[in-house]
Amino acid sequence: MLVLCGVLGVLQYRWIDESSRAESMRLRGSLQGSLTRLSADFNATLINSCSLFLPRVFPPDASSVPPSPMSLYRRWRESTQHEGLFSAIGVVRVEGDHLTLHLLDLQTGDERVSEWPESWGSMRRYLEERLTILREGREGQGRPGGRFRPPNLDDGFLLEFPVRGRPDPDARQAPEWYVFEVSESYIRKTLLPELLNHHIGSGLADYQVEVVSRHRPQQILFRSPDQDLPAIGEASDASVFLFDAPWDLVFRRNAPPGIREALRNRPAPPPTGRLELRVRHRSGSLDAVVAKTRTRNLLVTGAILFLMLGAAAALASYARRAQRLATLQMNFVAGVSHELRTPLAVIRTAAYNLRGKLAQNPAQVEKYGALIQKESERLTTIVEDVLKFASQNSKHARFQFEPLSMESLIDASVAASQPAIEAAQVTVDRKIQPGLPLVHGDPIALQHAIQNLINNALKYGAGEQKWIGISAAPDGERFVEVRVSDRGPGIPQEEIGSLFDPFFRGQRAMEDQIHGTGLGLALVKGIVEAHSGSVAVSSQPGRLTEFAIRLPAAGPGISQDFTQ
Ligand code: ATP
Ligand code: MG
Repeated sequence: MLVLCGVLGVLQYRWIDESSRAESMRLRGSLQGSLTRLSADFNATLINSCSLFLPRVFPPDASSVPPSPMSLYRRWRESTQHEGLFSAIGVVRVEGDHLTLHLLDLQTGDERVSEWPESWGSMRRYLEERLTILREGREGQGRPGGRFRPPNLDDGFLLEFPVRGRPDPDARQAPEWYVFEVSESYIRKTLLPELLNHHIGSGLADYQVEVVSRHRPQQILFRSPDQDLPAIGEASDASVFLFDAPWDLVFRRNAPPGIREALRNRPAPPPTGRLELRVRHRSGSLDAVVAKTRTRNLLVTGAILFLMLGAAAALASYARRAQRLATLQMNFVAGVSHELRTPLAVIRTAAYNLRGKLAQNPAQVEKYGALIQKESERLTTIVEDVLKFASQNSKHARFQFEPLSMESLIDASVAASQPAIEAAQVTVDRKIQPGLPLVHGDPIALQHAIQNLINNALKYGAGEQKWIGISAAPDGERFVEVRVSDRGPGIPQEEIGSLFDPFFRGQRAMEDQIHGTGLGLALVKGIVEAHSGSVAVSSQPGRLTEFAIRLPAAGPGISQDFTQ
């Protein structure tokens, strides 16, 4: 069973370990998936909005005149769900050698020439460089300011697209660009909360979320309300880049189906973005959560194994006990039948003799009569013991409690055992301490218990020493102790634990064929415990074997405790 539990424990441990690892990977994967979808949604919001301003044909017709920015803006305002998405929209036009910026009024859509804001400096430099490249016809030779430049982190929240939808407009036309400035506060207050709710939903309560600008990573743009939690930094469970509206995706949106198909086969651009969204579990990390669950699972399975082991041990001990009891009962049956048969045989023989010639001899009559009396008394004792034990076990044991003097109880017990004492020629050393307190008890039952101990001392311990001792003394203020001792061969250590078991008989008692049923001490224990007392034994073979009965004194407050 122990080996089985050990193997089970190892298997459980491995299984929990593997399932924890799988669970950790599953949680990470599902979180990363949600973030990827969120990022795609975020970018789609930008792409859809910007593409509305750009030509609806692909490839754009170089000769067509694009609709006015004002009309496009108004159309966008009517159709969009993200009205606050842009904090500024500019049209950049070439005037002479300069690029002039026309900002749209976000209420009316009207254009007005404006100074270049300071934060647009990097965008302005890029467009000027681009203009030079277009004028010199250097397109495609070098990359600075090339057609599909990767996002420039310095541009912050600015996105630029050629108004005619072609990065290299017809040489006859002056290039023009739209520059969109995405509103940081809209992202923070509206777009991100909306997308987080949609993609992570109720699970959001378990996570700490942070969005940083990749340009300035220490600047946290958005964070879930966890003021007391430290910044996530690099220690995220999952992260994704946001804010990416690549040129070809914006134009692909406006392409007719055939061309859109063709474009779709182009390899997807690598994930880029100006922002980074980081997510971490509130308890530190997903690994920490899984580790906690793992520990809990290990504890639970450990406890179950422990319980199983305990139950198996209890079962084994119960089975052992039951087996021992069965053996004892078999011995008892054998012993009792022997114990009954012997006196019966003696009585039968004596009776037979009495009916014959011997009956005329008074001395012989007296002898056989005494024999019959002695053997029938023995029979009575055996039957009484068995009946007492049966009634004690059937829980119908009734005791008549009354105040008792221990001294007279001991005297009565010695007197009842007198014939046996005389027959064994034993000296009884009687030491009763004067002024013993009374005890509350059943006189017949208690006398039977003491007599049993005296008989055992006579049977097993009086032997060569021809001595038994009986003493009684107070034990503290609340108990009286009666000791019955002998100086016989004593009780082997390994038998002490079983001595009070019903039907138990010692090795020596059986070898020496000393009469007995093995019920005496079980009866003593039952009687004493019914009086709220206890019985103990100590044995130093050859020196002193002592049985001590400890009974509560009938002091005030105690007597009621066990008076029934
Ligand atoms: P009975 O039912 O007739 O009393 P018993 O004497 O064998 O039979 P118990 O009184 O229960 O049964 O005693 C159990 C066993 O304890 C005895 O068989 C004996 O081996 C051992 N024993 C009891 N008292 C003593 C003693 N004073 N010295 C040595 N062994 C003892
Ligand atoms: Mg006995």
